[in-house]
Amino acid sequence: MRNHDHLIKGEWVSSGNYQDNVNPSDTRDVIGAYSYGDAALVEAAVAAAKSAQAGWADATPQARHDLLEAVGRELAARKEEIGRLLAREEGKTLAEGIGETLRAAQVFKFFAGECLRQVGDLQASVRPGIDVEVTREPVGIVGLITPWNFPMAISAWKIAPALAFGNCVILKPADLTPGCAHILAQVLHEQGCPPGVFNLVMGRGATVGEAIVTHPDIAAISFTGSRTTGDHIAEVCGRMKKKVQLEMGGKNPMVVLDDADLSTAVSACLNGTYFSTGQRCTASSRLIVQAGIHDRFVEELIRQMQALTVGDALDAGTQIGPVVDARQLKSNLAYVDLARSEAAEVIGGERLELNKPGFYQAPALFLGTTNAMRINREEIFGPCGSVLKVDSFDAAVAMANDTEFGLAAGICTTSLYHARAFRRRAEAGMVMVNLPTAGVDYHVPFGGRKGSSFGAREQGRYAVEFYTVVKTSYVCAG
Ligand code: NAD
Repeated sequence: MRNHDHLIKGEWVSSGNYQDNVNPSDTRDVIGAYSYGDAALVEAAVAAAKSAQAGWADATPQARHDLLEAVGRELAARKEEIGRLLAREEGKTLAEGIGETLRAAQVFKFFAGECLRQVGDLQASVRPGIDVEVTREPVGIVGLITPWNFPMAISAWKIAPALAFGNCVILKPADLTPGCAHILAQVLHEQGCPPGVFNLVMGRGATVGEAIVTHPDIAAISFTGSRTTGDHIAEVCGRMKKKVQLEMGGKNPMVVLDDADLSTAVSACLNGTYFSTGQRCTASSRLIVQAGIHDRFVEELIRQMQALTVGDALDAGTQIGPVVDARQLKSNLAYVDLARSEAAEVIGGERLELNKPGFYQAPALFLGTTNAMRINREEIFGPCGSVLKVDSFDAAVAMANDTEFGLAAGICTTSLYHARAFRRRAEAGMVMVNLPTAGVDYHVPFGGRKGSSFGAREQGRYAVEFYTVVKTSYVCAG
């Protein structure tokens, strides 16, 4: 199948305007053509969701469980095929693509279980003869807007709780990764998702995304993407009194103390900074290193960074796949130039010409940097890390927190005192000790503080906060 269409009310619908979806490892490889929608198509998806909403809200927990369980099982069974599509479309390595598909399956299975664990709260009234019952209800139609960097996992961790708690969904994937969203839509459809309960509308943020965010019948928006888009969506939703959840960028610090185990620290930084080509919102981008370990750490990190194999995402030996597209590569290379002009010492970071047309970049390390430099204030979202030298633990914590973001923060140390103090003082939603800043479990809350996140947490039991509204009922026996 070359042409791929939107899913509305259980039917595959074309709006024409097919755009080629190109493999960033080899731009001669076209994955398929995907129809780009418009505001009229969003209107049709909203009408479909409206017609399905009451039925889905009333569906038994068993029915919702069975759908999510079946979707999870199917994704797990097809992890090689779907993981391969993910690697081809987004450029992460095949192992990462398969791992992410399995993660999506686990998320669906977790929320299948949550369907059966929906509880209320019966409270004693302060008045005689009255019971107070606090229950949760679906929010209604939710618009889910996703980025390109985790097209299976992020879609899954929005769709699965939305459906588990009785909401109907309109998903708008990133323009660069409609293929993963389309295959998720196929799986949901084939596993018996009722017409209108899940709808897929592909297309541009400025048209389809904007139509979703501004639609008065869409009750809530869950967005993951850049800070700029998130700020805009927050303003619109605030004006419309719409429930909103934003997961945005990061400038995540990884502190390496003198008392760290060197090999643990280097491996955590190598993974956190460069794996998935640095295209993770939780990537370590500021490596804050204490003076006593600095030189040994830098020498070993450079050695291991330069040994990483950059190549086609589908090749067995590849550790770092391509950058997602030409625009992102241009932006990364501009940051490498900026690092030089800000007087950092730059190791690596150049564009690589392999034996095929793709967007390859050598991993980059910026040395001798300060936290005031733009390279340490702005999210780069590529395989680039900075080293910042500090004298003390207190200086490291202050620098870690000196950012407008607050998603993840890490520390490598063998001191229980320092680990504990960092956990308490880090202004971040997630703290990692002796682990890369990226890499999380799927059954616990995910999200950040400050400019990184807004609204209720995603994932795990905490997802119920966003995807339900609370009702308080007072009942008098009469
Ligand atoms: P992006 O903001 O460009 O796009 C994200 C989504 O928003 C896309 O689907 C896009 O089409 C849509 N969009 C764009 N303009 C819109 C508008 N006006 N109205 C509605 N929707 C609109 O982000 P991206 O480049 O796809 O993703 C990279 C960014 O995502 C990075 O900043 C990264 O840190 C962030 N990210 C954050 C997390 C997290 O959980 N914090 C996870 C992954 C990625």
